[in-house]
Amino acid sequence: FTTRGSNIVGDVETLRKVSRQEYLKKREANKLKELGESIEDGEYLYKGVKLTEVEYNRLSYEKKIYELATKHEAATHHDHDHDQYYRIPEPYDDHEGGVNQEKRFSVALQRCWDDDLNGRDNKSNQFAEQKAWEDQQIGKATLKFGSKNKRRKCDEEYDFVFEDQIEFVKKSVLLEGDQMIANGNVDVGKVQPSHQLDKLREERKTLPIYTFRERLLQDVEKNQVLIIVGETGSGKTTQIPQYLHEAGYTKGGKKIGCTQPRRIAAMSVAARVSQEMGVKLGHAVGYSIRFEDCTSEKTVLKYMTDGMLLREFLVEPDLASYSVVMVDEAHERTLSTDVLLGLLKDIARYRPDLKLIISSATLDAEKFSDFFDSAKILRIPGRRYPVDIHYMEAPQADYLDAAIVAALQVHVTQPPGDILFFLTGQEEIETAEEIFKHRTRGLGTKISELIICPIYANLPTELQAKIFEPTPEGARKVVLATNIAETSLTIDGIKYVIDPGFSKMKSYNPRSGMESLQVTPISKASSMQRAGRAGRTGHGKCFRLYTSYNYDSDLDDTTVPEVQRTNLANVVLTLKSLGIHDLVNFEFMDPPPCEALLKALELLFALGALNKVGELTKVGRRMAEFPVDPMLSKMIVASDKYKCSDEVISIAAMLSTGSSIFYRPKDKQVHADTARLRFHSGNVGDHIALLKVYNAWKEANYSTQWCYENYIQVRSMKRARDIRDQLERLLERVEIKLSSSNDLEAIKKAVTSGFFPHCVRLQKNGSYRTIKHPHTAHIHPSSGIMALEHHLLPRCVLYHELVLTTKEYMRQVTEIKPEWLVEIAPHYYQLNG
Ligand code: ADP
Ligand code: MG
Repeated sequence: FTTRGSNIVGDVETLRKVSRQEYLKKREANKLKELGESIEDGEYLYKGVKLTEVEYNRLSYEKKIYELATKHEAATHHDHDHDQYYRIPEPYDDHEGGVNQEKRFSVALQRCWDDDLNGRDNKSNQFAEQKAWEDQQIGKATLKFGSKNKRRKCDEEYDFVFEDQIEFVKKSVLLEGDQMIANGNVDVGKVQPSHQLDKLREERKTLPIYTFRERLLQDVEKNQVLIIVGETGSGKTTQIPQYLHEAGYTKGGKKIGCTQPRRIAAMSVAARVSQEMGVKLGHAVGYSIRFEDCTSEKTVLKYMTDGMLLREFLVEPDLASYSVVMVDEAHERTLSTDVLLGLLKDIARYRPDLKLIISSATLDAEKFSDFFDSAKILRIPGRRYPVDIHYMEAPQADYLDAAIVAALQVHVTQPPGDILFFLTGQEEIETAEEIFKHRTRGLGTKISELIICPIYANLPTELQAKIFEPTPEGARKVVLATNIAETSLTIDGIKYVIDPGFSKMKSYNPRSGMESLQVTPISKASSMQRAGRAGRTGHGKCFRLYTSYNYDSDLDDTTVPEVQRTNLANVVLTLKSLGIHDLVNFEFMDPPPCEALLKALELLFALGALNKVGELTKVGRRMAEFPVDPMLSKMIVASDKYKCSDEVISIAAMLSTGSSIFYRPKDKQVHADTARLRFHSGNVGDHIALLKVYNAWKEANYSTQWCYENYIQVRSMKRARDIRDQLERLLERVEIKLSSSNDLEAIKKAVTSGFFPHCVRLQKNGSYRTIKHPHTAHIHPSSGIMALEHHLLPRCVLYHELVLTTKEYMRQVTEIKPEWLVEIAPHYYQLNG
């Protein structure tokens, strides 16, 4: 048993071991005998030779790589662009295995198509397994608090907060060890500054971190890596970079970088710090987020998303222009943060002058310290008052409604203090805003004024500042926030927290490669953080919209790090382009599941970004230049071949705005729908419709008026324009000429070149099934395909993304011709005959 050509993955021994049982099952399905493998008494045999589990894992892994590579090579044999980057495959001592797998694959694929056509249900083992996995996932997602408990007495609509009360029970008081300090709160209001800057300067001195200034600077000087733990609001994000700047770390043209998991936090904190320093945002203090760079040559304090720093490694692999990098909010454990930690640990070895600060709001500092070879931990005690925790006595059917009733209840019964309300996303926040308005309308002076402040990722900058404005006397502020307010942003004056217990999370099925967003119950750690927000300025209260039984039995202790529940294709591509080939040995704090890593490699192979020894191809190198997911960047790179890069980057920009393009005001839905359908005439599909919107807006001279007339969100369009400008500049960088085409088929083919893994076929019952995996989804009602009159569902479509609400829906859908798949991705869709 030899393993040749293993340079792709390095030492497979460190591959996370998939359970033995799972392997056994899989092997059974693959007909072991044909592969020369067998299992006897739980031992793995390969051509009669006994293997250890490690060897076995390695064999499986390499076989997979080999299989992908062979298929890929067969398919791209005549593609000159690829040829020059190809190596002759290393001989593998089981050629038959490859061939057999190949054959089986085609047969299986053929069977899928046949079954589709005959409407038969395929119930092979593999499919049943998939189904079980999905059921389990769906079970998790739809876990409703309190299904086990008694239901609410009355379920009907209620109009009045005073008539419908929600019963809460006070169960516990949140106090964490020595974290509570009930005094020492300097009354900022008493400071009488001569002007704004003085006032801010005084305010800075009242932050808990201020007394630690000297110690912090000493610790940074003496240690290369320092872990900082401190309560949210203690001043870590805004003060530490300033202290370091004041202490001279920005001399000699060096920068201090501070990463944030969220765009809005990076922007808002940079704005605050520039005010505190009395400089213009974008000059000495700036921020950099995807598609938006607000920095200049003079910038010395740079706030940025973790993803942006990751991209900076591509240009400056040793981060030479930085003297300090602070990875803030490390406890969030986003995918980019985790990858950054690994990369930073690596470069710190040969950049002894680089200082690393890892800051976290939670107490699990030891884990970070261990990761950085027992790095020193500095704990900053927060200013924390007790928080009473109230649980719901009985669960509520509709948590949003219950939450609003609870908030109004607080408003009419509780002493002054603002309310912080945690919701799952923009849509929910907008709905809540409407319900609030509806419920308080007509109450007039019966209740005092409620100021509703939403905050979510896509909120325009001018409105972001509003949440920080002090509440006028006699009024009460209700901040409707996403997870953003859990630790990234601190809003002063919050005394009441309303926590429905949910957040939106990405989930990923590594088997099918399907990723979707779903509303999921939060972890205990998150709910503690949320409650803590109520105790910053005084004794606070937290109302949890679930029972204490739910808390104890339904919530996980901590949130699973993103690296273990996401699609890794983007990260793998980034690491590969950084020259890190040995992904298995890459130092992750928590390694990703082996299956997800394989899936990522598989996708990158299929997209032509990697060659068979796992190296970046020219296509892959170009793809890595674009700060978008690999399928999207492949679509852009492929547009070169179809001579339609101009159109394709418009589509890519429209798909990347992160918010909806069309809007449908309640009172004008018919008008809005009619306006929207105009872009769909000729049943062109959602991608082309987006292009038409963009072009029409451009023709109207980017007019705001035009947007109003056509029920288009101006903000989204402006963002699309910015993104498009950037993509155009990047095209130049990868030497793709801007070329324009009127041929819609060519444009759709370019889209297909990136999104062929997202192709689905119509089933008898009107749903769609992915071609390679038995995964069922439906076209989202918002798609133009569903809106057209007398529509006939197309036989074969591709989609941009999946969202899980009541069903699994595909968003942004375009009809394609099945023949294209064989033409564009024969290695992925091989058909017999
Ligand atoms: P930490 O990072 O430890 O959570 P921060 O440095 O973010 O703390 O916050 C310190 C203080 O600065 C808080 O009292 C917060 O309210 C204030 N602050 C932060 N950002 C802003 C902003 N954009 N506008 C007004 N105040 C802010
Ligand atoms: Mg912070």
